[in-house]
Amino acid sequence: MPEQSDMGVEADSSSDGRPLRRLRDLDPRPPVWDRSALLRRDCPFCGTRGRPHVERPDGLTVCLCPLCSAAFISPAPAADEVARFYRGYRGRHRVEAFADTPYAHRASIPTTAEPERLAHLIRSRRALDDFRVQVIASHLKLTGARVMDLGCGVGQLLNGLHSLGATVEGIDPDPDAVEFARSSLGLDGVRLGSHADVDGTARFDLVVLQDVLEHVLDPRALFTRAAHLLTPGGFLYLWTPNATLAAEQDQPLVLRGDYEHLQFASTRTILRLAADLALEPIHLECIGFLGSLEDVAHPHNASPPRTAILRARIRRLPGVRQLARIRNSLRSSPRERAGTYHVFALLRRPLPRA
Ligand SMILES: [Zn+2]
Repeated sequence: MPEQSDMGVEADSSSDGRPLRRLRDLDPRPPVWDRSALLRRDCPFCGTRGRPHVERPDGLTVCLCPLCSAAFISPAPAADEVARFYRGYRGRHRVEAFADTPYAHRASIPTTAEPERLAHLIRSRRALDDFRVQVIASHLKLTGARVMDLGCGVGQLLNGLHSLGATVEGIDPDPDAVEFARSSLGLDGVRLGSHADVDGTARFDLVVLQDVLEHVLDPRALFTRAAHLLTPGGFLYLWTPNATLAAEQDQPLVLRGDYEHLQFASTRTILRLAADLALEPIHLECIGFLGSLEDVAHPHNASPPRTAILRARIRRLPGVRQLARIRNSLRSSPRERAGTYHVFALLRRPLPRA
């Protein structure tokens, strides 16, 4: 991995000396970092020196990696700042900041502060309604499979995989999320900590990196750890915001929201990492939004606050959830899979040759 060097904040200019283009704002919840403690870094996936590309709406510089086509923030927040931020991530940051914005309906999404509502919501979802679980299940028999979710959050995916017969474990740095997963979902295999705290001798049939590679300062170390935990024939499932088209687009959506994201892998990044760790690519897809992110892709569809609050109340009426579930299961998959916001990959550790 590249060493981080403290060179302070570099001037935000492109390689030809002109000021960087600034992207249009979208997200009402920028994390507050200590700007005086930002650290310059090279590509966190391959160690190559990046070139400044655009200024993100939160004022941080997005660099592009000429070797693996990743996009990454440099200078970036220091490790202790990032750790502090994630200790209250799922409850406070993900939802509260949406109140009084066009995304107010998101403020009605239950958090760990309302464990009963959140548990009810998670339990009402069928695991196989998620097309990502469908892809995983088409390659791996989940009954009896041993699963580790690195950065499992409140345990939603683990709850679904458990319902399909898997033995599930997870680790997350947010104490509220871990307490919820254990107490409200009964997931005893979820623990507080980071990927480095997972027993290095344990082996799993499926290791999950869903919405996590973009959040850590050292994604290569996380990826390497995940690969190390695979049993021969085991699968690494990866879902992360996609840098593949970021260099070509004028206002790439992927760089304009969720400013806690510190880097963005491309398909080339994933294939390089897989090759470095001798993993076989089984599935690789650039893929759009799940329903909950659609309003960010199409801001003109976002409901005004009053309508959104009314809709949230209607959703709580008896029977409405069941109807919504039927509607969701009938929705055409192509619509769900339009767009290119994420990279979705399934990689396999090969079986030893006989
Ligand atoms: Zn790179």
